[in-house]
Amino acid sequence: MKTAICPGSFDPVTNGHLDIIRRSSKMFDRVIVVVARNYNKPSSCFSDVQRVDFLKRSTAGIENVEIDISGGLTAEYAKRHDAVAIVKGLRAVSDFDTEFQQALMNKKLNPELESVFITASAEYMFLSSSLVKQLCELGGDIAEFVPREIYEDVVKGINNKAYERRG
Ligand code: ADP
Repeated sequence: MKTAICPGSFDPVTNGHLDIIRRSSKMFDRVIVVVARNYNKPSSCFSDVQRVDFLKRSTAGIENVEIDISGGLTAEYAKRHDAVAIVKGLRAVSDFDTEFQQALMNKKLNPELESVFITASAEYMFLSSSLVKQLCELGGDIAEFVPREIYEDVVKGINNKAYERRG
């Protein structure tokens, strides 16, 4: 049984992430989507519990996908869960540098682990969680960018956060 992990911040999960998760689930027997617990950038909007909940609701229809949360090293997590690969989505050349660096470091930490890169689908090439947050905050409609199961809660969360920030 081949297990892969898809790590990320997923703040919140977008249709671009979901596309990568779905495609990974066809390549591997089991896919664990791992939410980064320590992700605490100033731009972060949702708590790790919310991000996990959004992912669970969005992937409920994909049988071999599980959602987990981890605060440690991805390479160690992979070892503990017998994962053979880390799957990442590549959107543009700008993703490549950091992903390549991370892949080399992960290989050093866990030589058994492969990094697999899936090219973003053309329609999601430009899509990122930060863009979704910006667009929504400025009053744009994000319906086509996030899974419909979570759309309303994502909009509410982003607007509440913006409201708090403005005081
Ligand atoms: P973001 O860059 O949106 O904050 P994450 O850190 O949550 O994303 O990303 C987790 C993984 O998903 C990364 O490998 C990232 O390259 C990939 N990813 C993010 N958005 C997309 C997209 N629109 N299409 C393909 N892959 C994506």
